[in-house]
Amino acid sequence: MSQEIAIIGSGFSSLSAACYLAQAGNKVTIYEKNASIGGRARQLKKEGFTFDMGPSWYWMPDVFERFFNDFGKKTSDYYHLIKLSPAYRVYYGINDFVSIADNLEDIISTFESIEKGSGVKLKKFMANAKSNYDIAIKDLVYRPGVSPLELITVETAKKVGEFFSTISRDVKSEFKNQRLIQILEFPVLFLGAKPSDTPSFYSFMNYADFGLGTWHPENGMFDVVKAMESLAKELGVSFEFNANVNKIVVENEKAVALIVNNSRVEADVILSGADYHHSETLLDSEYRMYSEKYWDSRVFAPSSLLFYVGLNRKLDNIAHHALFFDVDFDQHARDIYDDPKWPDNPLFYANFPSVTDPSTAPEGMESAFFLIPLAPGIEDTPSLREKYFDKIIDRFEILTQQKIKNNIIFSESFCKNDFVSDYNSYKGNAYGMANTLMQTAFLRPKLKSKKVGNLYFTGQLTVPGPGVPPALISGKLVSELIKKN
Ligand SMILES: Cc1cc2nc3c(=O)[nH]c(=O)nc-3n(C[C@H](O)[C@H](O)[C@H](O)COP(=O)(O)OP(=O)(O)OC[C@H]3O[C@@H](n4cnc5c(N)ncnc54)[C@H](O)[C@@H]3O)c2cc1C
Repeated sequence: MSQEIAIIGSGFSSLSAACYLAQAGNKVTIYEKNASIGGRARQLKKEGFTFDMGPSWYWMPDVFERFFNDFGKKTSDYYHLIKLSPAYRVYYGINDFVSIADNLEDIISTFESIEKGSGVKLKKFMANAKSNYDIAIKDLVYRPGVSPLELITVETAKKVGEFFSTISRDVKSEFKNQRLIQILEFPVLFLGAKPSDTPSFYSFMNYADFGLGTWHPENGMFDVVKAMESLAKELGVSFEFNANVNKIVVENEKAVALIVNNSRVEADVILSGADYHHSETLLDSEYRMYSEKYWDSRVFAPSSLLFYVGLNRKLDNIAHHALFFDVDFDQHARDIYDDPKWPDNPLFYANFPSVTDPSTAPEGMESAFFLIPLAPGIEDTPSLREKYFDKIIDRFEILTQQKIKNNIIFSESFCKNDFVSDYNSYKGNAYGMANTLMQTAFLRPKLKSKKVGNLYFTGQLTVPGPGVPPALISGKLVSELIKKN
């Protein structure tokens, strides 16, 4: 039976759910508070420069392929993928960096050249990481987080120890060189928690990194948003922008309507892809499943200070993605998770999309994106943003041995306060609730409300977790629950 389904938000999880629900014959409308599509993956265009505002690492290409295959399509029907080579660069000092190649064999040689004997160890580590990927990403993450039994399979039974050790412990027991340790700990940062709090089993992220590679949609991550928008429109989904949802209306214990810009819109089913905490504040308090105390006790992924920068010249000595790990990695992690404060010496990440796609900057110029991870809920002021911009630009100049300050045409910042005002993000988190052991699968906030009929949730605060591939999967999982109910 066809139903009217109202979806809050136009992020990846909402777009994914909208496609599946429309494919099943429902009348689907997306209500997005902002003027443009994509949520945290929106696009910024300024003075001839183009930026992805959020995600930039296209990992797990198989998950994207599987999504489009579900509709009888391929990613290549919508966008062209480039495998980045090198995948990325990691800076440790002045002109001192490690390049991660686009294939495992070369990465093994790089490891061996840094620490004798580490090549063989990496090969073994990656074989296990691949088997975890096959279990987790091809199977477990496609389960709806309803019951602990979902995690008990013949394969996971063999790996039970890997749920109780951590990535950090595993890596440090095999590798001694600090650089190699940091490189192997880096991928799980995408899951939002410290490597020392992330179960060993999550080494599937290392397989995503070294095994499957880092890809780039030709015109940036926003290509994927546009592809999903096209698919959704082909399937009949309607979009309303500048449509701020003020309330979810409940009558007789069932969600029956939304108040959008103060007008009532009826619906048979309501699905929120906005941050889960915010979605619950749209309900009267007796209908919320999780208390403020609950949310406050969760481990959230970091917030971030971001800069979108236009430069009036081409830079030397850069790669598409660059990590600046020339400072104490563990201290910065403590400043995020243990004793939240602005880090004295932040590690930071930069990308230069115009290295791969010249159309993102005017001819002879460069587009740059800088990111410093920060504790969620941290103080955010214009002077702090400015101070940290100067800090990282100084470091960037020294580490890559070039002057860029006088070449900056503009720099636009985005930080905690913008995450809150633009996305209604809890504590200004950038990418959701972390995937620690106690916040995995059935231990995450539920896709279906237990208090209100016909009300569902999707996105990075529910299952499976943070990141673009999980957001696509989250939309699929919730659409299956809605269809079933
Ligand atoms: C800086 C940054 C870098 C990242 N890097 C990567 C990366 O490299 N690779 C990767 O895979 N992932 C990355 N991520 C994570 C990834 O972008 C997210 O996990 C994913 O985009 C989240 O999608 P979502 O649908 O859950 O939420 P969102 O994208 O936040 O969508 C929620 C939507 O709901 C809307 N909304 C909120 N409240 C209302 C309301 N009341 N009414 C109407 N609409 C409302 C919001 O405006 C928003 O559009 C990054 C994230 C950030 C912020």
